[in-house]
Amino acid sequence: MDNPPRTDRNKVRRLPKRAHYDMETIYRIVDEALVCDVGFAEGEQPFVIPTLHARVGDTLYFHGAPASRLIRHMAAGHPVCVAFTLLDGLVFARSAFHHSVNYRSTVLFGAGRLVESDEERLAALEALTEHLAPGRWAEVRPPNGAEMNATAVIALAIESASAKVRTGPPSDDDADYALPIWAGVLPLGLRAQPPVNDPKLRTDIDAPGYILRYTRGENAP
Ligand SMILES: Cc1cc2nc3c(=O)[nH]c(=O)nc-3n(C[C@H](O)[C@H](O)[C@H](O)COP(=O)(O)OP(=O)(O)OC[C@H]3O[C@@H](n4cnc5c(N)ncnc54)[C@H](O)[C@@H]3O)c2cc1C
Repeated sequence: MDNPPRTDRNKVRRLPKRAHYDMETIYRIVDEALVCDVGFAEGEQPFVIPTLHARVGDTLYFHGAPASRLIRHMAAGHPVCVAFTLLDGLVFARSAFHHSVNYRSTVLFGAGRLVESDEERLAALEALTEHLAPGRWAEVRPPNGAEMNATAVIALAIESASAKVRTGPPSDDDADYALPIWAGVLPLGLRAQPPVNDPKLRTDIDAPGYILRYTRGENAP
């Protein structure tokens, strides 16, 4: 999609120099994030529900039990707001006030659609599986009819979006730089630990390379 125009809904007001509105930046964050948080309102009550996602072109896909509140809300075509957060570091300033975090975040807006066609549902489930670990779908047993019936798939066409990115050292008050206090950034990144075999794993099967060498993201340690 074209880069979204800045409107009242997606315009970052505080520290606008950290804002980005190009879909390339936005999609890089969406694709690196393993999970997202979907916010929606039912009457006066807001809900924010964490969930898995996958992106195919300009469409986000979600899946879940047809009875879940989130899935029902999106299946009915109601609007949602989806937030993705990548934490890149803890920022320690000399003053308590200037402590911060380095991050890449994005906020997307759109309305859900219940996916009806089997072809699109299967493609979405493939995208959701591949989003966790590229290469996985080719190895697994595909969903059977009962599993497909138990899974609702939602497509979300992205209407509007924004990203916000903080990088770099703390930003202290001039007078504080002389204080005898450590300041700096503690970088953070997602690191996979060695895989743990399922106790029921057949003894003749080793973890595949994409599991043994799993890394994720620009700041992977
Ligand atoms: C990990 C993390 C920690 C943060 N901690 C704090 C904190 O402690 N205190 C604090 O005040 N702020 C914090 N922020 C920033 C916070 O997300 C908002 O940017 C901030 O509240 C200012 O919003 P606003 O009033 O400018 O915009 P709002 O009026 O709240 O939002 C307007 C629009 O701007 C866009 N937008 C706003 N924030 C973001 C964002 N982070 N990413 C992408 N789009 C965005 C959205 O499209 C939104 O609809 C943090 C952000 C992250 C990612």
